[in-house]
Formats: sequence, structure tokens, C-alpha cells
Amino acid sequence: MLFPATIAGSLPKPSWLAEPDKLWPQWRLQGDDLAQGKLDATLLAIKLQEDAGLDIVGDGEQSRQHFVHGFLEFVDGIDFAHKVEMGIRGDRYKAMAPVVRGELTLKGRVHQLEVRTARAHTQRKLKITLPGPMTISDTVADEHYGDKVKMAMAFAGLLNREARALEADGVDVIQFDEPAFNVFMGEVSGWGIEALHRAIDGLKCTTAVHICYGYGIKANIDWKNSLGPEWKQYEDIFPALAKSRIDQVSIEAINSRVPLKLLSLLDGKDLLIGVIDVATDAVETPEQIVQVIGDVMKYVPKERIVACTNCGMAPMHRDIAAAKLVALGQGAALARKRFG
Ligand SMILES: [Zn+2]
Repeated sequence: MLFPATIAGSLPKPSWLAEPDKLWPQWRLQGDDLAQGKLDATLLAIKLQEDAGLDIVGDGEQSRQHFVHGFLEFVDGIDFAHKVEMGIRGDRYKAMAPVVRGELTLKGRVHQLEVRTARAHTQRKLKITLPGPMTISDTVADEHYGDKVKMAMAFAGLLNREARALEADGVDVIQFDEPAFNVFMGEVSGWGIEALHRAIDGLKCTTAVHICYGYGIKANIDWKNSLGPEWKQYEDIFPALAKSRIDQVSIEAINSRVPLKLLSLLDGKDLLIGVIDVATDAVETPEQIVQVIGDVMKYVPKERIVACTNCGMAPMHRDIAAAKLVALGQGAALARKRFG
């Protein structure tokens, strides 16, 4: 089928589960109630995506407080009690970073509960996201490894263990989120891809990497405004990605200043094209989505195009995100009619 539709990863959480409209929401439930609430919200996220006509659905990241820390909580060797303030993503934000103080090991399974719940309740293809090794390494302070690459490789080993288990749980697509690729472009071909290869080692399911310009929050919008009339970050990293063993690349397109001709550098990859802007509450029309897909088709064979969101929708208003899911499903369907 042409233009299958999916989301980058996160959706807003229901207000009975966590504070709304926040990137770092506090949970509103505790203990067993929280554990059950996460799974209930997962079902809701799946249902919303199915009803919107999406073809590859996900858990909406309803079980994690944050896309990186949701993984780190399950890693031993990290001190969450004494966080330090650190500039991350090339000093774009200040964040309170947990500190790596010893050998990194997994405490157990990370996303088993929500993935098994999702798998049991949908017949559609199921996608799950994990933070990428470079992005994780840029989000923690290191007082043990003394070498960013060595630490990233250690995280990649843990990611691989969880990814293999997710595949066994019936996941069809495993995506690694690497916004740091757009910041440390020179390091992507140096070791970023190698770390991803370690994370996907032995997987038979479809693998993806998501590289965006960040959530629609002020620090990112200000950063984008400083990047000039054409955003060329992708130009530096796409050639290395094209040679990688990753199957799919998820990128930002609608309302961005990414020159679409750069997509031709990813020859041979499936491309998840952002046709939904997560930085505006204006809901896209199906015609706008068709326009983006048509523009991308000048550089990418239509069989390789997947309709997606620019980034996660976690910090958005819930009703707006739901309306954008519907627009995404309708836009992809209209593009199928138009270009099929
Ligand atoms: Zn993103």
C-alpha cells in the first residue's frame, strides 16, 4: 500500500494519568493505580490511531515520563538522586541530568508491559520507539566511563537487549530517536551509526531512526529561527545514513526549512515524512498533506514514502493532537487516491 500512515512516537497523556500540556509531566496516579493507568492509556492511544486510519500504530509513549528518561529509569549504574545541571543538544537547553556512576546494566525489561498490552489489542503493525545511544549520552552526565563514545556503546548494548526482547514480543518496527544527530553532525559518521548498528544487531524486524529538530517547545523554535533560510543539517548526515543498515529514516518536512532535494541523499531507504507540524495548533488539511507528499515525490520514489508526524506530540493539547491524527489518516488516504 502507498503512503502508510504512522506517528513519530509520543502522544499527549490523558489528564487522569499525568499533568496535561507538559513535556515533563508529573504522574497523577501512584503504585498499582499508575501501572494500570499507563496500560489503560496505551489502549486509548492505540484506539485513537486505529480510528484515525493509521496503518502502523504505537503505544503513544504513555508509560514514560520522558522519551529518554523512560529508558534510563530501568538502567542500573545511574544516580537519579543527585542530578547535575547540564547544557544539552549543544547547549540549546539546560536540563537536570542524572549521573552515570558505574557500569551500566539493565534492571530487567523496559517496555514489556505496554508492548504486550498493545500487541494483544491491535491487528495493525506495531511500532515502538527507544532513545538512540548518542541522544542518551547527551542527556546524562558521565562520572564513570570518561569517554562519551564508550558510554554510548554501553547504552547501545542495553538498547539491543531490550530491542531483541521487543521483537520477540511481536513488535514490527523499532525506531531509535536521535535528535542529537542534528546537533553533532560530524560525530554521526564517526560513531553515531556504529552505535545504532550495535543497538539493532541481530534484529529481523524493521528498524528506523528519527532525526528531527525537536518538539514544538520554545527553545527549539528559537533554535530553528537561528538556523537560516535553509536547514542543511541533514546534508551532513544523510550520506552516512544511506550506507547504514537502518531501514527507515524519519524526518521533519512540513513547515520546516529542510530543502527536500536533500532527501535524494537517502536513496534506498524508506522515508517517514513529517506531514504534521507538532509546533503549531493549526490542524493540517488533507490537501496540505497531499501537497507535502507530492513535493517529496520529486525526490523519493512513492513506494518509499510513509506519512508521519514531524516529531512526537507529547507536549500538545490532547484534542489538537487527536484532530491531527485524523488529518494524518485522511491526508494519507487522499494522497493514495491522487497518486496511486
Ligand atoms: Zn523528534
